Amino acid sequence: MSVDKSQRLRFQRMLWGFVSMGCTLAIVLGLYLFGMLPALPTLVYAVITMFMAITFVVLNKSGLNLRFKDPSMTAAQIITPLWPSIFIMYFVSDPQARMAFLLMGTGGLLFGMFALPRRTMLSVGALIVTSYLVLLSALLKWAPERVNWRVEVVIVFAYFSVLMIVAYLGSVIAGMRTTLKKQNQKLEILASRDALTQLPNRRALMDQLTQESARIDRRTAAQSELCISMLDIDHFKRINDTWGHDAGDAVLMQVSQALQKTMRQGDFVGRFGGEEFVILLPESTLSAAIQAAERIQACIAELTFPELPDGTRITVSQGISVHQPGDKIEVTLKHADEALYQAKAQGRNRVVVAC
Ligand code: GH3
Ligand code: MG
Ligand code: MG
Repeated sequence: MSVDKSQRLRFQRMLWGFVSMGCTLAIVLGLYLFGMLPALPTLVYAVITMFMAITFVVLNKSGLNLRFKDPSMTAAQIITPLWPSIFIMYFVSDPQARMAFLLMGTGGLLFGMFALPRRTMLSVGALIVTSYLVLLSALLKWAPERVNWRVEVVIVFAYFSVLMIVAYLGSVIAGMRTTLKKQNQKLEILASRDALTQLPNRRALMDQLTQESARIDRRTAAQSELCISMLDIDHFKRINDTWGHDAGDAVLMQVSQALQKTMRQGDFVGRFGGEEFVILLPESTLSAAIQAAERIQACIAELTFPELPDGTRITVSQGISVHQPGDKIEVTLKHADEALYQAKAQGRNRVVVAC
């Protein structure tokens, strides 16, 4: 995913966090209007909440969040609104009204369920309970008239239980997310790699080709070209027929390794199918592509194969085409294939450029 897209997604999630902050702010204003909160703490709470929201927006919009370990700032977005809530809870005259804040805190934690790792999730839960206990101690010390300890014991117990359940469920979801992520990565590799040679397969090749041709199509002045070489091992069937399929597989693997080693950085090689490979040379020129192809011919000709009798060498043929901006990539591939066919017809072990 592009950075811009991820940032936009983070911002959207942040807006949901703001909805939750907005609801808590509405509760605070309501308590003030009902006469359960003094004016000054209400004002301080409103200013701090606004300041926090603005800070998060600035961090996201300026890209500063990208420097953080978690650019989504999920834990920060759950924990920071906790402090003003604890602050305001101290001033609420009715002990039962404090429950509303605890419920909102749980709401925040529910957001974390889908994003935070197991341990962070448990730490955030523990932090909320501890903060509430600190608040209770402060109330007992300085404003005991606002505490009904029997109600508090029940509230703290119930809240602790709810938090533990949420934290536990969150940690299960976090575990599932990690497994899913790993499996997705594995699937992605499986779907784009060739099982035998581990080279990118035909699907990955086509993706890369489409990307490269789109890139070259966007250019106005074509100082460089996208060249394609289609490579086919000569008389490969004979290898299979004479020394067996396993020996054939070993040759395929060695050829793939040799191709990867001979490529420049930025070039791309994949297995197109059977004993055919496609090499993409983006930002290249025809003469550079021919040179690269000749280099490959020489390298393959020198390969020795432990699975085959001593002195057995193989050769390959290549067809080269240059992508014409605006053309479909399939057309460019077809031209390379036709050039390869000519190389075979002209006696194999050679490079032919599509006309
Ligand atoms: P040419 O010089 O004209 O390319 O002759 P060739 O024998 O290489 O061409 P042909 O396309 O007739 O034969 C390709 C053979 O490659 C046929 C197929 O059995 C074999 N082959 C395809 N995939 C694999 C594979 O994964 N492993 C092995 N060992 N052989 C494979
Ligand atoms: Mg073939
Ligand atoms: Mg062949």
